[in-house]
Amino acid sequence: MRIAIIGSGYVGLVSGACLADFGHNVVCIDRDDAKIRALQQGEIPIFEPLLADLVIKNQREDRLSFSTDLGPAVAEAEVVFIAVGTPARQRDGQADLSYVHAAVRDIAMSMSGYTVVVVKSTVPVGTGDGIERLIREVRPQADVSVASNPEFLREGAAIGDFKRPDRIVIGVEDDRARQVMSEVYRPLFLNTSPIVVMSRRSAEVTKYAANAFLATKIAFINEVADLCEQAGADVQEVAHGIGLDKRIGGKFLHAGPGFGGSCFPKDMQAMIKMAQDHGTPLRIVETAAAVNDQRKRVMARKIIRACGGSVRHRTIAVLGLTFKPNTDDMRDSPAIAIITGLQDAGARIRAYDPEGMDQARTVLDDVAYCGDAYTCVEDADALVIVTEWDMFRALDLDKIRGLMRRPVLVDLRNIYGAAEATKAGFAYVSVGRGRQV
Ligand code: NAD
Repeated sequence: MRIAIIGSGYVGLVSGACLADFGHNVVCIDRDDAKIRALQQGEIPIFEPLLADLVIKNQREDRLSFSTDLGPAVAEAEVVFIAVGTPARQRDGQADLSYVHAAVRDIAMSMSGYTVVVVKSTVPVGTGDGIERLIREVRPQADVSVASNPEFLREGAAIGDFKRPDRIVIGVEDDRARQVMSEVYRPLFLNTSPIVVMSRRSAEVTKYAANAFLATKIAFINEVADLCEQAGADVQEVAHGIGLDKRIGGKFLHAGPGFGGSCFPKDMQAMIKMAQDHGTPLRIVETAAAVNDQRKRVMARKIIRACGGSVRHRTIAVLGLTFKPNTDDMRDSPAIAIITGLQDAGARIRAYDPEGMDQARTVLDDVAYCGDAYTCVEDADALVIVTEWDMFRALDLDKIRGLMRRPVLVDLRNIYGAAEATKAGFAYVSVGRGRQV
């Protein structure tokens, strides 16, 4: 099939590379000239494991190409995916659909023959209806179906998630679109990934409901962690104890500094607004979002307590800046609020992240960025682990302690045990494991 993808960011690029690898002929479009020029030369503008090899392989085999020129790619395509950003609108937190609508106008002007326009971006319920109206305004005679196909991939594991998804959700309003979408995903169906076909509106809500549920699970276990800390229990034991119950499931039960990233915070805000507009406020989601928001500054205070109540003129070494490992994405990372909270309290920050430092420089001021974990901790008064990159899981704690001015380790991801940290001479603080601070 001939496919055009509008927007070549995390989702568009991964989708394009994977769909090309299934054997489709894919053109990825972006209006960012520099991004497209880099991609044409085989340079990948984001860090995502396995992505570079997949892009280069499919480019070489002539199934994947990149362009800033939407017209010809859309004219030739049977299926056009929209994968542009839908950030939170600054004034009210609602999903900003201006990029989607701009893309739709361009698509409407260039379509020829029957075309299925597929919304992969995360959009509020009813957006598909609006897109259909917009296309008909621009091209009253257009032979078009508008489908919803929300994306559930996780950054850091995106290729595996796209190629072996738990399910593919497709929202359609007519049989022609259903057939075309089944054809797009046929290679996955053969791999026994279930394709769940539903109405367009249901598909739009499914995406937000999935993200809100997962985010709520994290907010929930974080509050349980606070209880465990005060009550002398261990949240990891509790999470294991509840997670083995299949009705609950063990995933997303890791206590930590709160969720961040480009999706959960903004999608929760958008869902909250969407529900309010429909006169059905989602109080559980509202509370989970508020709990998570406050948690990040609370983590800064936890670090300050671990340092004896003040970090004024102290040096804090921070390992891990991205919102999770295996990505360079800094959007809404907890590290931003934590570092800002520590700086507000007078601390000097040294930091190291294997992939996130370029993006971090654009959102965090006055941070000394270091070349590796050991350089980062030199003369530090405390070490804080914010992101659980694999390379931080087996640090030489004796060496680290020797390099630091004071041996304080605040492990916000619970990747060390109290026994080993204490044995190495650290005052050790983690999340939700007994009464600690
Ligand atoms: P992104 O910011 O990485 O990429 C969006 C790209 O679209 C940018 O490169 C931008 O230049 C381009 N763009 C914007 N308007 C355009 C236009 N009119 N024509 C051509 N290109 C245009 O965003 P992302 O993280 O890939 O997210 C895209 C959508 O997918 C969002 O709705 C997001 O909520 C959703 N989503 C993201 C993830 C994720 O993990 N990142 C997962 C699931 C769903």
